[in-house]
Amino acid sequence: MDYKKLSELLFPNNKLTVEEIEKKYPKRKLKKGAEVTRFAPSPTGFMHIGGFFQCVIDRNIAKRSGGVFYLRIEDTDKKRELIGASTIILETLKRYGYLPDEYEEKGVKVVGNYGPYFQSEREEIYRAYAKKLVAEGKAFPCFCRKTEGLNDVKEKREKMFSLGITEDKDVCRNLTFEQIEEYLKDGKTFAIKLKSKGNGQNKIKVQDVLKGELEIQENGEDAVLLKSDFMPTYAFAHAVDDFLMGTTTVVRGEEWIPSYPLHIEIHEALGFPLPKYIHTPLINKIRENGGKTKISKRIDAEADMRFFAREGYEPEALIEYLTNLANSKFEGWRKENPDKSIDEFPFDGFNITANRPVFDILKLNDISKDIISKYTAETCYQKLLSWAKEFSEENVDYLVKDKDYVVKVLNIDREKPKPRKDVYKWSMVFDTFDYMFSAPKNYQIDESERKKFEEVLRAYKKYLDLSDKTIWFDKIKEMAGVLGYATDNKLYKQNPNTYKGNVAKVCEFIRVAITGHKDSPDLYEIMTILGEEKVRERISLIV
Ligand code: GLU
Repeated sequence: MDYKKLSELLFPNNKLTVEEIEKKYPKRKLKKGAEVTRFAPSPTGFMHIGGFFQCVIDRNIAKRSGGVFYLRIEDTDKKRELIGASTIILETLKRYGYLPDEYEEKGVKVVGNYGPYFQSEREEIYRAYAKKLVAEGKAFPCFCRKTEGLNDVKEKREKMFSLGITEDKDVCRNLTFEQIEEYLKDGKTFAIKLKSKGNGQNKIKVQDVLKGELEIQENGEDAVLLKSDFMPTYAFAHAVDDFLMGTTTVVRGEEWIPSYPLHIEIHEALGFPLPKYIHTPLINKIRENGGKTKISKRIDAEADMRFFAREGYEPEALIEYLTNLANSKFEGWRKENPDKSIDEFPFDGFNITANRPVFDILKLNDISKDIISKYTAETCYQKLLSWAKEFSEENVDYLVKDKDYVVKVLNIDREKPKPRKDVYKWSMVFDTFDYMFSAPKNYQIDESERKKFEEVLRAYKKYLDLSDKTIWFDKIKEMAGVLGYATDNKLYKQNPNTYKGNVAKVCEFIRVAITGHKDSPDLYEIMTILGEEKVRERISLIV
């Protein structure tokens, strides 16, 4: 068969040659060891935390090596595309300070010389490579079934393997030139398939940076490269793009491992060197029954990166947490370098946790508390305000009008050597400091102690003095003594029955009256910020 002639028959209008294309995509000039990584999502919905987890790895690898991290939108499956999804993806990356070195903002701008960065704009390129493969006898037209549905090679392979089918050589690979001409005359549509040389019974060894050498079934399938609408499949498009765009390391989910041998074969057919691959584990969650299952869009709010923005998590906290999840050496490094920028962490691609990482929001909260505790009150205010502008509009006027007061509230137990660690997201500020914004609605007091509680408050009306912290406390002690409470804890411990309690109990009563809670930040600070009038009002609400 004259394959060259066949390629002209199938692609009469495709004049662009791969030589011309490759001239437009010269080899990148990079310093030695620099890595080029990419995030290549399909715009089918919101940005999943698993995708962002990959970005953390991608960006770290590129940054640490002085390389390039770019964004490529894999939008060739128009049926599954969700309008606006690529904007959400880019917005998310921007929010986290992860603006890629190269990307495209549809209709606005293209940053980088290796675009277009939307696959749907690269159709001519894929066709040129498909034509070349046909001309070399490495691919053929297939007329025998509707191929639209076969885009998802991954699913199809999984299904085949589950049925024990390891070979799928297509009958159309044996068509003669004349038969093909005939079909075309009849107006039949065709897909382009790879003429696989593999044998699905064989095992081959493949390399994964993270998992090491894996032994899996060779590809034996004449897989679809171009569907009958001439749109490429993922398997084909990513190989072409990663080559032209100079990707050195592909970071993608481990669900792609079954089709990895096919991808290897496509690279070989195209004569492309194989990039390194890192197949990342899916992020899991511990369920109520103790089991571990992957984080799911359907049941887990945290699957959608917008959850964290809405809740007011600091991007810094999430990046720190996911880096922790991605690289087992990070935690130790952070302990030794608490104040260093995360960008100084020598992220080592080989050290990404290979086990199924578990997303633990409590751990994220702890990391976040640590980070926020180091902010000044003014920084907290600015961040709270920008969060409110986006997600809590009803609070914006108040925050602007009463800025000084809010800053004082945010400064309670802050800007000290050992700041208090309670706030971990901006949406909780009004709840955490509810007592600074209105009188308590409930008091954390045991009914058995109510009488003593009221007695202390009645007396305190006389002893209240906020002029100075020492005087304030001396007055409380004086009152405690008068009411029969111990002012010396040692004496109290020796003879508890002689007293109604100790001075700490008296303070607790006052704290509950002012804040509603038994536990709070520094009471004197709270009372001075509220001011004497409000403090008196609050006591009067009780006695
Ligand atoms: N478009 C593929 C996906 O969203 C990307 C896989 C890859 O990174 O190569 O799963």
